[in-house]
Amino acid sequence: MPKVREALSAAIQRLGDCVDAEILLAYALSKPRSWLIAHADDMLSAEHAVAYTVLVEQREAGEPVAYITGRRGFWTFDLEVTPATLIPRPETELLVELALDRLPHDADAKVLDLGTGTGAVALALARERPRTQVMATDTSTEALAVAQRNAERHGIKNVSFVHGDWFTPLGERCFDLIVSNPPYIESHDPHLNQGDLRFEPMSALASGQDGLNDIRRIIRDAGRHLVQQGWLLFEHGWNQGDAVRMLLSNASFANVLTMRDLEERDRVSGGCWSVSNDCDLR
Ligand code: GLN
Repeated sequence: MPKVREALSAAIQRLGDCVDAEILLAYALSKPRSWLIAHADDMLSAEHAVAYTVLVEQREAGEPVAYITGRRGFWTFDLEVTPATLIPRPETELLVELALDRLPHDADAKVLDLGTGTGAVALALARERPRTQVMATDTSTEALAVAQRNAERHGIKNVSFVHGDWFTPLGERCFDLIVSNPPYIESHDPHLNQGDLRFEPMSALASGQDGLNDIRRIIRDAGRHLVQQGWLLFEHGWNQGDAVRMLLSNASFANVLTMRDLEERDRVSGGCWSVSNDCDLR
């Protein structure tokens, strides 16, 4: 039987990725990754060696590590992830940060997360601002079930989940802040046929010819669901900043802005709703 270090180096050779190889071995052994270093000279049992080989083969066939292990870290959470949900990305934490900047610690607020997937953004906001009530929607009932389990596992109570397409299930409800990480990839982008994206739900990734179909709908309808001075913030592609700022300005949003991610690429835009609304703040 191989030692931990031998199994790892064989997997690194096959996968060309040290982190993936470690995460999968730790998963096969039900140990934290740090355990592997301290036990590099331990022998793997036959069952563990076989289990690890199966996982490495799955990864070699292209399956994302997060779907193999069913977990992905986001913000302060270890989240359940399934092929019904987009795999949370680190760059989406920028959306969380910008939303938190607009949510006071010491006041009640109503927040809407459109297309919540695993619940990543909604849960982060609910955890950081306990006085906020977060409503999170998704068109996928399977994704909502994952999000619900994530809320339960992390004991987060100030979030509720609603099934439906963007604003459709919300009636005349109004919010102080609306956030979304919608699909925004151009439908013909070759990246959709490469790497991890091949395994993720297309409905969470692609959005028409220019990638902006869903963002256009969100911008068009958000005003009806925002209190005056309420903010809309959403993630988008690195090359969509100019287009979405234009859409926001044309739709009567003020203070329109785009923020860049750690790689210095346009990533999140938004604006403040400048018009008064007959709001249902239930
Ligand atoms: N940022 C993701 C990617 O390009 C896409 C996520 C999304 O469409 N919301 O892989």
